[in-house]
Amino acid sequence: MFGRAPRKSDNTRYYEILGVSKNASQEDLKKAYRKAAIKNHPDKGGDPEKFKELAQSYEVLSDPEKREIYDQYGEDAIKEGMGGGGGQGDPFDIFQSFFGGSPFGGGGSSRGRRQRRGDDVIHPLKVSLEDLYSGMSKRLSLSRNVLCPKCKGKGSKSGASGRCAGCQGSGVKVTVRQLGPGMIQQMQQPCSECRGTGETISEKDRCPNCKGDKVVQEKKVLEVHVEKGMQHGQKITFAGEADEAPDTVTGDIVFVLQQKEHPKFRRKGDDLFVEHTLSLAEALCGFQQVLTHLDGRQLLIKSNPGEVIKPGQFKAINEEGMPLYQRPFMRGKLYIHFTVDFPDFLTSEQSKAFEAIMPYPKSSALLTDMELDECEETTLHNVNIEEEMRRKQQQQQAQEAYEEDDGGSGGGAQRVQCAQQ
Ligand SMILES: [Zn+2]
Ligand SMILES: [Zn+2]
Repeated sequence: MFGRAPRKSDNTRYYEILGVSKNASQEDLKKAYRKAAIKNHPDKGGDPEKFKELAQSYEVLSDPEKREIYDQYGEDAIKEGMGGGGGQGDPFDIFQSFFGGSPFGGGGSSRGRRQRRGDDVIHPLKVSLEDLYSGMSKRLSLSRNVLCPKCKGKGSKSGASGRCAGCQGSGVKVTVRQLGPGMIQQMQQPCSECRGTGETISEKDRCPNCKGDKVVQEKKVLEVHVEKGMQHGQKITFAGEADEAPDTVTGDIVFVLQQKEHPKFRRKGDDLFVEHTLSLAEALCGFQQVLTHLDGRQLLIKSNPGEVIKPGQFKAINEEGMPLYQRPFMRGKLYIHFTVDFPDFLTSEQSKAFEAIMPYPKSSALLTDMELDECEETTLHNVNIEEEMRRKQQQQQAQEAYEEDDGGSGGGAQRVQCAQQ
């Protein structure tokens, strides 16, 4: 990482905030911060803004590397992240680590530090359309980190945790190298002494249960309730059940429903669609069939007496679609889309029988021999129209692409010709 050549900015303000001179010793800084921070602590009615500034100033000036950068390049250089992002720390954290507990006596600061929020854990959950129709519960076993019950997440037997001397508790080590005038190389690495945690616990004091890790693994069984009418993509949240970590608000476990495709039913919102194929005889003369619903109920579907079902026709059954989420006594519609399976051939007897019951309309009665003589013979081929249309579109696109390529120079040449005329 290369810092760009920094402009010189204010490099006295931090000293003024703490009320010390520019050549104050570490001891002077400590004394000044101790006095001012206690006096201005918001728990004691102090101004939070002043308290924050004190912490920022102390954080920078108490670190020899950061102090050097501050003295040389000023406040902007620190804020731009040289010296490892100084001045951005939580003022309460800085205060706490300075005093190693509460300076006011009693059980530490009650207002709590600004807490980090832990990550949510997202799990896809496969469900069938039947599950979404009827609802279901599933018990899922997960393993997660919980704060060690023995040391209450402290990691040590005594409850103490020392600020890591190697990184001053920041968890990172920053090395700054001057490459040339105004050119600085800055390298940032996790502190090896504390493995980036900013704290060290002595070997002897380490909690035997979690070995100083502060957390242990726990098996947890969650009962997931998939309610009637839930949708693909809907989330079921278990608040605060994700991995626990010290000083962290535990995130959520979130299950995201993933509906598996159904072989028969399709869902659109609260409605269901089903494909139904009839023979020509059924379409013409009526039908009566059983449709097994998603909950196993047998629905009798039948045409009205004398009714003819046409290819592509829809029919709907009210209140047999999906139950509405959280109002499961209401349901959408079940749409049935009919396909009619026509026979490929008829025997001459069948044709004659049809002719007898369904006479030709007058306009398309058989042609006379004379009329036939005036016509040209044709052959009707079977085609897969979708396939043919797709191929034609591809050909057209290829042709257009070709003409466009050609068009650039061709068009230009034409314009030149026109100009010459
Ligand atoms: Zn460290
Ligand atoms: Zn422990």
